[in-house]
Amino acid sequence: MNNFTRSGILFVVSAPSGTGKTTLCTNVRQTPDLVYSVSCTTRPQRPGEKDGVDYFFMAKTDFEKKMKTGEMLEFADVYGHYYGTPKGPVLEHLAAGRDVLLDIDVQGARQIRGSKDPKIQEALADIFIMPPDLEELRRRLEGRGTESSQQIAKRIQAADAEMAEWKSYRYTILSSSMEEDLIKFRAIIRAERYLSRRLDLHHG
Ligand code: 5GP
Repeated sequence: MNNFTRSGILFVVSAPSGTGKTTLCTNVRQTPDLVYSVSCTTRPQRPGEKDGVDYFFMAKTDFEKKMKTGEMLEFADVYGHYYGTPKGPVLEHLAAGRDVLLDIDVQGARQIRGSKDPKIQEALADIFIMPPDLEELRRRLEGRGTESSQQIAKRIQAADAEMAEWKSYRYTILSSSMEEDLIKFRAIIRAERYLSRRLDLHHG
């Protein structure tokens, strides 16, 4: 019988803050055979967040040490705090044929697209989640209630700049309901898993 094995896919998802990406990624994390990459950050832990599950929360000095020793696949300063993807686990999962999901900002996605590592290039499938419009984004951010009005204004301004980058991504989902977004996201995952170039054929 013919059988396929394949290399791991690096799903990179970016969306302006408040688009619902975290909820979307939480749902996608339940997709079988998908490993969520837990980022490091220097931002304070929010109520309900778990260290090592949502993020690895760390001091700025520790983060900078990891940056300098090349332990980060990418990193960025987002709203005044560092965020970065630990490189080792991502490369291990991809090599083992496991798909990895990165929830990172546009600066990080840009770094990954610019990576000189052919393994990263081959694995990459990047997805942009576009908010319906800035007013809806503001409503969602206000509804979430985790940021001050000053922080919300900053995030709306940043969203405007981030949305200008959508064309750099292989896929774009125009965000509507969470259910619709999830269906579209899963369709992308499925299609990427059947790309011939990712498959190796075995006769057994
Ligand atoms: P939050 O503080 O709301 O959890 O995340 C703020 C922003 O940082 C989001 O856009 C999120 O995608 C981004 N982010 C989270 N982890 C990383 C990371 O490892 N690298 C980069 N570049 N951005 C990240």
